Amino acid sequence: MANKIPRVPVREQDPLKRASNFEEVCYGYDEQEARLEATRCLDCKKPRCVEHCPVSVHIPDFIREVAAGRFAEAASVIAADSLLPSICGRVCPQETQCEGACILGVKGEPVAIGKLERFVGDWQLKQGGEKPTIAPSNGQRVAVIGSGPAGLACAADLARMGYGVKIFEALHKPGGVLVYGIPEFRLPKERVVAPEIEKVKALGVEIETDTIAGRTLTIDSLLDEEGFGAVFIASGAGLPQFMGIPGENLNGVVSANEFLTRVNLMRAFDETYDTPVFVGRRTVVVGGGNVAMDAVRTARRLGAEATIVYRRSEAELPARVEEVHHAREEGIQFRMLTNPVEVLGDEKGWVRGVRCVAMELGEPDASGRRSPVPLVGSEFEIPCEQVIMALGTSPNPLIASTTEGLETGRKGCIAADEWGQTSREGVFAGGDAVTGAATVILAMGAGRKAAQAIDRYLSAKR
Ligand code: FAD
Ligand code: SF4
Repeated sequence: MANKIPRVPVREQDPLKRASNFEEVCYGYDEQEARLEATRCLDCKKPRCVEHCPVSVHIPDFIREVAAGRFAEAASVIAADSLLPSICGRVCPQETQCEGACILGVKGEPVAIGKLERFVGDWQLKQGGEKPTIAPSNGQRVAVIGSGPAGLACAADLARMGYGVKIFEALHKPGGVLVYGIPEFRLPKERVVAPEIEKVKALGVEIETDTIAGRTLTIDSLLDEEGFGAVFIASGAGLPQFMGIPGENLNGVVSANEFLTRVNLMRAFDETYDTPVFVGRRTVVVGGGNVAMDAVRTARRLGAEATIVYRRSEAELPARVEEVHHAREEGIQFRMLTNPVEVLGDEKGWVRGVRCVAMELGEPDASGRRSPVPLVGSEFEIPCEQVIMALGTSPNPLIASTTEGLETGRKGCIAADEWGQTSREGVFAGGDAVTGAATVILAMGAGRKAAQAIDRYLSAKR
């Protein structure tokens, strides 16, 4: 199936310029561009795009409204299934979800569904919030731990149903990975994330920051003493992994989480802030996912010659295609089929390089991807002053270790069924706290499902 109108290109900041600033890379569509792109949609009878959207947004319906210039109606269609369109339109891996399944992609370019969603979300934010519809209070209260996409989605749905909802957040700002992980140049905080969170607050959701479940309070105290009928744990997976190789304790080795938190949440990139951040003249980032791309592009913007070291080949890179493309444009070096075996230090205990081995791909492993195998005698060194480890994360054990009867599974993830029910009555969990690593939209979907389960649980008690 082809379409005579080519996909409307999206305007982006010049790569050379943006490699040294933190302004947003992609400018998005204006009204005219969005309407033109929307006319490319064939309004399929059986829309494959919807089948491949994790929260089943009624994609052709909202696109039809965009094509007709009825942007408020388009926003209402999306709002029925997705809480954060300006965010999802920017960071969802559309190429493997809705756009990856779009019928137009068979012979040509799929409809730019993500860019259209972003356009609608941004349009709505510019109009200012309309008064949300909320059910009358039912007198019951729910506590939510963590203010990332899972916690926000669950809180918003419960508030709409008439529950009193309070989110407890460990950090000083709400948003989870949206504020501490994903950089400003991909997801602007003041212009996009903060107003999306204000929409949740406008539903009556309270957010208490600087409060750590497992330290400041416990799940048991919320249920037994504070009068909450249920708790939803959406504490994410913020505990970084390291390789366990010699030299990882040297000065100049850091996890991507810490590096990104200093730069994003604590605004180390902003000269008016006093947040310390170390950046090497040459920085090596180990890993190939979104986190690695964010870390390497951030280091580049802070002045480093930045290199990705990844043990598999380009075909296996788990990062979004768009992020890899942008990273290359910005001058990031990629060393594929390369695995560090030791971080090398100087006499003062600072990093001076990484010793690596070349890899080749062998038989598929449990993940279905061909496993990397070291090539004997292939060791070589990459000189650098900083190594950033972006190897994945797991949930912090604090909550599980301080909550009676809460079972955990693989990598310390909280064990929960598809509705978020844990081994503890009245305690639900979702998002990265349960999966270990997912995406923004999957975390949101888990939050919404848990809200339904919590509603069933608490309705039965009324
Ligand atoms: P989080 O967003 O991690 O939020 C958890 C919140 O809980 C945090 O604010 C944390 O401070 C708080 N918390 C933790 N412990 C406690 C406690 N004990 N008490 C109180 N609060 C606590 N996904 C995409 O779809 N597209 C992308 O491009 C993308 N890029 C990413 C880039 C980076 C750098 C990272 C790290 C992740 C990225 N992801 C991306 C993944 C996505 O952001 C996560 O899957 C998603 O944010 C998970 O949502 P969550 O609500 O489960 O957890
Ligand atoms: Fe439109 Fe593509 Fe979805 Fe068909 S699959 S409805 S063309 S976006």
